Amino acid sequence: MALTHNLGFPRIGARRELKQALEAYWRKNIDAKQLQDQAKAIRKENWLLQKKTGLNLIPVGDFALYDHMLNMTALLGAIPDRFNSTQYDTMLDLYFAMARGTANQSAMEMTKWFNTNYHYIVPEFNSHTHFQITSEQLFDEINEAKALGISPKVVLIGPLTYLFLGKETEVNFNRLDLLPRLLPAYHEILSRIAALGVQWVQIDEPCLAFDLEEIWLEKLSEAYTTLRGSGPQLLLTTYFDAIDEHAARLKALPVDGLHIDLCRAPHQLDTFLADYPVNKVLSLGIIDGRNVWRADLSQALATLSQAQSFLGERLWIAPSCSLLHCPVDLELETRLDGEIKNWLAFSVQKLNEIVILGRGLNQGEASIQTSLQESVEARQARQQSKRIHHPVVQERVKKLTQRDCQRHLPFAQRQSLQQQYFQLPLLPTTTIGSFPQTTEIRKARAAFRKGEFSHVDYLEAMRAEIQNVIQQQEEIGLDVLVHGEAERNDMVEYFGEQLWGYAFTENGWVQSYGSRCVKPPILYGDIYRPEAMTVNWISYAQTLTSKPVKGMLTGPVTMLMWSFIRDDQPYSETALQLALAIRDEVKDLEQAGIGMIQIDEPAFREGLPLKKSAWSEYLQWAVKAFRIASSGIKDETQIHTHMCYSEFHDILPAIAEMDADVITIETSRSRMELLDAFAQFAYPNEIGPGVYDIHSPRIPDTDEMLALLEKALRCIPPQQLWVNPDCGLKTRNWAETDVALKKMVSAAHILRNRIVA
Ligand code: GLN
Ligand code: ZN
Repeated sequence: MALTHNLGFPRIGARRELKQALEAYWRKNIDAKQLQDQAKAIRKENWLLQKKTGLNLIPVGDFALYDHMLNMTALLGAIPDRFNSTQYDTMLDLYFAMARGTANQSAMEMTKWFNTNYHYIVPEFNSHTHFQITSEQLFDEINEAKALGISPKVVLIGPLTYLFLGKETEVNFNRLDLLPRLLPAYHEILSRIAALGVQWVQIDEPCLAFDLEEIWLEKLSEAYTTLRGSGPQLLLTTYFDAIDEHAARLKALPVDGLHIDLCRAPHQLDTFLADYPVNKVLSLGIIDGRNVWRADLSQALATLSQAQSFLGERLWIAPSCSLLHCPVDLELETRLDGEIKNWLAFSVQKLNEIVILGRGLNQGEASIQTSLQESVEARQARQQSKRIHHPVVQERVKKLTQRDCQRHLPFAQRQSLQQQYFQLPLLPTTTIGSFPQTTEIRKARAAFRKGEFSHVDYLEAMRAEIQNVIQQQEEIGLDVLVHGEAERNDMVEYFGEQLWGYAFTENGWVQSYGSRCVKPPILYGDIYRPEAMTVNWISYAQTLTSKPVKGMLTGPVTMLMWSFIRDDQPYSETALQLALAIRDEVKDLEQAGIGMIQIDEPAFREGLPLKKSAWSEYLQWAVKAFRIASSGIKDETQIHTHMCYSEFHDILPAIAEMDADVITIETSRSRMELLDAFAQFAYPNEIGPGVYDIHSPRIPDTDEMLALLEKALRCIPPQQLWVNPDCGLKTRNWAETDVALKKMVSAAHILRNRIVA
């Protein structure tokens, strides 16, 4: 019998119940007991939903009030020192203090979970770190599940991945040295889990998908040898990329089974099947946990049958990774077009697919004939749908040549043309695009959506806001203005809604971090831009001022990465289609007299594959897509781009190749450290290193920003330097924004005068 199981279920609740409960608790509208009851109710619903599908093993321990890495930190008692100085009333208060910070303690850092848009809380390690079980949460949840008649498979982050994803807070300290202290704690956790009658533990070691140094691999064997015999059987679980380079080592590891991702890395199956140890289970991640398309059940069944002939009883079937990255239930979508809905599967539907495949293997193909037939028909319908294929778009992509990927003149010559044209002062000041999204703005957008606001009401409301934003910027004294982005709910959704080839859900929420969720649009077909998307707003803004107004667009790579992407053609192809749509918008903006256009690419780095060997291919098409979007215009037209992070060191050549005239980046938190890299590389184009962190309510003084700018000038010549905040201002309020920008402008003025004098 092939066994079916799940690696993890979305924890936010089908209607974001967890978000509501968390935010109510943080606002003190409900108490801890009410929050815990709500969390318990979500877990119960999730388990029962999964049980109903008929899965054999259901994950327990995949739930988290904020984040599963933070859960491990709490379980292991790896509490950073600064939180030990305060007495928290409850473990819960401490947990949220670590996640979100308090008035006098800064939060733990948060960063992206592999190449997903989920963010985890980064463990902090130093020579004082000790591990000791401090939270009963996991054990309570196991009992909770058992009381509901669930046969639990407990999910834990493995010791290597836990260390690997953390950061050292002490110089000359290597976190791997903590392993001998960490393993006894894992041993104890596993023994306690076994004592509760649990047979299987899914121990996640996704760090194996990175290019690991040999020392980490050696420690892997050491770790699992130590944990052998601690109690339950261990399923060492990997996902997000191939691990076949370590196949021999993993087969020899003293664990009871392995899970591999066959969606991101289908080729690795053969390597694992060959000489697979007879005493180990092999779990195959055959249903894509990171996308929303219905599976090709026949093909999946064929793969599984082949594996079954090698593995027999030892074959398990699962999604490729936790379903954390998928919305909960397609059935909740009432407004989604029926044709498109038939092509999709969310978490519940994916688990159904797994159960069907299990039945097909165990009871023969005939037992799932209807499902196979439906799957084939849905697939064919999708392949042949007129809504997907637009020959005009495909032709245009085919006809792209090198000339479409470049500006006419090289940067140095464009720069002098642009200088003559714009006559900007040295160290020009600007912002990243959005201004505070006030309640009135949100209300106006909602009213328009619901039909309570007429088109005219809405237009007037937005125009009033643009007037306000322009006037404020004039008063602040900025040199390059923006229209403020009041009309945008989200930088991807806003454009997606105006392009053909995109669909939208009502409840397709995916957790981004803590209580924050995103609703990625579904990119299902060839991308076609029926008409201009931003020109009216931007040109209206430009009529209100004699200073240049920057047009604001979202770049092709970000449009791609923050959507659920069609899986019937390479990402690179879809990226080029998006690039063409944006290119047309850039041209329309230029035609309308807009001389500066910013194409945001905050997700550019997120798209980098986990393995370095795959980087160059990605960077090649990603850079090409950006260049197509930003070429085909006059050399006087100035292209800006923005990326809100600071880990550029590895990809600077690619950033330079994008050839944006100006790039704005995040640097204030790292105190301009990054600029050394830009200087060493001799980055040729203009740069606006962010001089203050917009993610924090703290407003730095003029002197502080001045100091950062002086530091920047040691790396970047003044003719290349811009002055701006780290990112868009939409999450800030006007009072903060006004003060902060005035200080920023005066810092720029002081320095400008000094240079000129
Ligand atoms: N232009 C966008 C804004 O200012 C950029 C957002 C981002 O970088 N994520 O909001
Ligand atoms: Zn940003």
